[in-house]
Amino acid sequence: MEAVLLEGPGSLRRGQTDAVVAPAGWVTVKPLFVGLCGSDIHLFDGQIPAPYPVAIGHEIAGLALDGPLEGRLVAIDPVEGCQECDRCLEGHENICADVGIMGGTRHGGLAAQVTVRGERIHPVPDGVTPQLAATTEAVAVAVHAVSRSRLRPGDVVIVLGGGPIGLMIAIAARDRGASRVIVSEPAPPRRKLAQELGFETSDPRDDADALTSYLDSRSADVGFDTAAQASLAPTLTHLVRSGGTVVVVGGYGGEQPVDLRDLVAREIDIVGTRAITVGDTVTTLDLLARRGDEIGLLVDEVVGVDEVQAALERLRSGEATKILVDCSGLQ
Ligand SMILES: [Zn+2]
Ligand SMILES: [Zn+2]
Repeated sequence: MEAVLLEGPGSLRRGQTDAVVAPAGWVTVKPLFVGLCGSDIHLFDGQIPAPYPVAIGHEIAGLALDGPLEGRLVAIDPVEGCQECDRCLEGHENICADVGIMGGTRHGGLAAQVTVRGERIHPVPDGVTPQLAATTEAVAVAVHAVSRSRLRPGDVVIVLGGGPIGLMIAIAARDRGASRVIVSEPAPPRRKLAQELGFETSDPRDDADALTSYLDSRSADVGFDTAAQASLAPTLTHLVRSGGTVVVVGGYGGEQPVDLRDLVAREIDIVGTRAITVGDTVTTLDLLARRGDEIGLLVDEVVGVDEVQAALERLRSGEATKILVDCSGLQ
């Protein structure tokens, strides 16, 4: 079958790979649309090692070809733990020491067919298009981050970074009842998009505006750091009020200093969040059914399977927020 294969760092090409066969309890899915994100760029660059050649693509919506959902549009949960360790058994496969992901540690969605354990596919609600369904995994990352924050209705939220995950977190936080959401983002096009979505915005570089006053008054209840800027790490606790929570979403390249004195003095919680876990996909599909118009604004373009590399470059430059690949060209 055809696939878009990463053959090594910087080497992506359309080629042939072995046909897939679903073991017992697994199902076969024909990917229809696949979303691209920063993880795909890290894979392409070789920052994340992979078993080359591997078909990339972990944000997958497709048609179930067999199993109980045969013929249905489904979204795939691509995070795969070992199924045996304590973390997996308690439903936290995302923090399994042996966690893998479709489109990273094994073939993913940019292929004519994929196989996946039956419980990892979820029916897409009526009214959610296959394109929108391909954002499910990315939105689920935001939904997971918001669940880690223990956000309560009425809370004030600051999001550092107005990229795709930052904006999806803003949408998910508003859906959970946040009374105000401020998105701090230096790039004007991203601030504009955040404003179109109805969020307050701030330029962290040169505006003495909303974010600064929030930082001074420390009045946010919850902060999300999707920017992972090393210069911000020492002041992360300052984002929130006493007793507030900071969720670190972005992947920092190395160790960072944190203001532990402030953390103790004001009982700040700093929590990490990684990928998605059991239940996030179902919650996300419900969110997509209700707020699909908002999330759809994040999708800039749909490209063909021969344009994946160019699309990754547009994502890297920040020119695009979310790009989907139409997989119909793969036989
Ligand atoms: Zn992704
Ligand atoms: Zn495990």
